[in-house]
Amino acid sequence: MVNWIAGINVPTKLAILYALLLSSVLALIIYVVETIQKLWTVQHKIMQSQKMETVSQLAASISHEVRNPLTSVKGFMQLLQETTLTNNQKNYLEISISELDRAVKVIEDYLTFANPKACSAVKELDVQEEINRVVKVLRPLANKNSVRLELSTSSIHILANQQYFNQCLINICKNAIESMEEHAHGALTIKTEKAKNDIIIRFIDTGIGMSKEEIARLGEPYYSTKGKNGTGLGMMFVFNCIKEMGGTIHVESKKGHGTTFIMRLPIQYRTNSKETDHAS
Ligand code: ADP
Ligand code: MG
Repeated sequence: MVNWIAGINVPTKLAILYALLLSSVLALIIYVVETIQKLWTVQHKIMQSQKMETVSQLAASISHEVRNPLTSVKGFMQLLQETTLTNNQKNYLEISISELDRAVKVIEDYLTFANPKACSAVKELDVQEEINRVVKVLRPLANKNSVRLELSTSSIHILANQQYFNQCLINICKNAIESMEEHAHGALTIKTEKAKNDIIIRFIDTGIGMSKEEIARLGEPYYSTKGKNGTGLGMMFVFNCIKEMGGTIHVESKKGHGTTFIMRLPIQYRTNSKETDHAS
């Protein structure tokens, strides 16, 4: 090239040597950069797994300590059930006991959610029924925070572990309700819709919203902006679980303008019954 452009006569040997040197230096630089990148990724992964390990160990000790008091509370509630009660009171007790059962189960299985078998024991679930169940449980919290709950769901089936799926819904909805504590007219809307072979569940709140940095940190173990009132484990559970169910979860949010969680899961088509859609 030098020969051709500037008319300087460069010996062929020198030119070849120069070209070889240039390409090997370039290759070396690329190799070093790639290696540094790889090391960085591995280091990040190791840190994440160390965090997960700590969470699992913590969960193991908590589960041991918390299960016994829960069992005795359940015993006393069952004794209460045998006394004369109004229908409403019986209903509340029933819900409380079933929630206690779930708490015990979640605690028992809490240790396993870090491993790939977490979503075992799956069965066919009607998303509408599960949402209704969760809404029933969360209504007292919503009332306390003056949050309106609005549903627009239809009967669509998925394959999931019921307890884990319920926990995911509760974690998302609880965060939404908690984000509207300071708002006078907060509303949480849950909508389901079909998109080809997937169900899309949207959780739309009118709460405090999140900045881009906050969204990026969602799902990190112990990440919480609620101080003593938060554990920072709720979203981690949700992200892990949805991923294992073969689904995805996206967040759209703007500080001060509310948040929308968009969950996408594969539909389980029923083989022997007709599918019906009911909007509620
Ligand atoms: P915790 O609720 O115990 O703080 P989570 O893992 O459930 O932990 O949530 C982590 C953080 O994500 C919360 O502290 C909050 O800052 C943020 N967050 C989650 N959902 C919402 C929401 N709907 N609106 C605003 N912030 C949210
Ligand atoms: Mg939470």
